[in-house]
Amino acid sequence: MFKRQTLIVWLTLVAITMMPFSALAQTQIKYHSNKYSVQDDIKLGRQAAQEAESQFPLLRDETVRSYVEGVGRRLVAAIPPEFQHPEFQYYFKVVNARDINAFALPGGPMYVNRGMIEAARSEGEMAGVMAHEISHVALRHGTAQATKGQKYSILGGIAGIAGTILGGPGVGQLAQAPFAVYLLKFSREYETEADVLGAQIMARAGYDPRDLANMFRTIEQQGGGGGGFLSDHPSPTDRYARINREAQMLRVNTAANRDSRDFARIQERLRGYGSAPTMAEIQRSGQRYPVGEQTGNLPDNAPTGRVSYPSNRYQSVSIFNGGVSVSVPSNWRQVNEGNSVWFVPEGAYGTYNGQAVYTHGASFGVGQTNSRNLQSATQELINSFAQGNNNLRTSGGYQRTTLAGRQALWTTLTNINEATGRPENIRLITTQLRNGQLFYMIAVAPQNERGFDTAFDQILRSVRIND
Ligand SMILES: [Zn+2]
Repeated sequence: MFKRQTLIVWLTLVAITMMPFSALAQTQIKYHSNKYSVQDDIKLGRQAAQEAESQFPLLRDETVRSYVEGVGRRLVAAIPPEFQHPEFQYYFKVVNARDINAFALPGGPMYVNRGMIEAARSEGEMAGVMAHEISHVALRHGTAQATKGQKYSILGGIAGIAGTILGGPGVGQLAQAPFAVYLLKFSREYETEADVLGAQIMARAGYDPRDLANMFRTIEQQGGGGGGFLSDHPSPTDRYARINREAQMLRVNTAANRDSRDFARIQERLRGYGSAPTMAEIQRSGQRYPVGEQTGNLPDNAPTGRVSYPSNRYQSVSIFNGGVSVSVPSNWRQVNEGNSVWFVPEGAYGTYNGQAVYTHGASFGVGQTNSRNLQSATQELINSFAQGNNNLRTSGGYQRTTLAGRQALWTTLTNINEATGRPENIRLITTQLRNGQLFYMIAVAPQNERGFDTAFDQILRSVRIND
């Protein structure tokens, strides 16, 4: 599992001041104290945006993007003057993911999942989520949170990674988490502020602020709770009622009233793409844009298992930030999956039931184990593979071999491939790194195809480790 790094731990501060003398005055919100500069917000957000965009598949549809951008611009223009930062650069992009979620980064970058747009029942509901996100940015909640020391978390993994002993803390120079991304989880106090300011922005932009409350209902009904928007933006008590109470104090700017027929057209357009992958699927597949993908949605790409024989020509590849070099057939390609790296021929790789599946290929990884003993560490690794895989069997015992000039163990496993239903052999070769971690190579091919053995031997012999 990836480590959840806690940058800073902080305290909370209630910053909402109610105005008891005026029943009809909107709630006044104040900034929390913040030791960071506005420029820090911008810098932090820019870094995080770069990271996010290297990992999330953006929907490459200019019609949809510019529509969302248009709604975003309208909301940004409606931020009350005291919370406007001219230095901030708000922009809006659509992530091609099914999860009902959205996130905004300090200084203005904002990402709305396709699932959020598809789940919303009106443009107002979608705008509600965006206004809420914009409020976190305008109130500088990320750096305010860091100032107070509360969790400003960097969640490793788009949606957390499948729990194995692989990767994990202390992986060091080898296998740096390729999916570290900044996602903020705010306190309930900050959530209330973002709801209240969000409602105010909605009204000023010509949207019914009650649509923000409605959207939270919609998210709940459609299961955006676990791992989705509501876990990043936990609901304060009476969220729905609180927003509606605020809405009663607000006058919607009817001059800015919005024709939401565009929204129906955009939803229709999105439906034409078929179902978007989930964040978990995106992470498991380890690739943002599958080969041949044009429309923004991932094709159903279960591996066919029909592959070419390995080329006799090999190319040397450096993986794990230069920690390991290996030669692989020149007609194979590299697929990064979590903390492991696969080399596979075309047709041997894909997803099946949301899981990454490989029919032929070699994989390398580093495991965090509890044992300094190679054999028991290897057994731990096998146990972790066996979790959720009832067809995996060890076949024969451990044999001694060498890997990168060091003592290694060789084990053979058998399995039934999830996608093809064919029996397959899995060779597992393990050795220890100087820091005690387990380094392993896996070679997979169907049982009746021996043509890959030579390639696997050659790959195994080519491995060099710099630890
Ligand atoms: Zn929030």
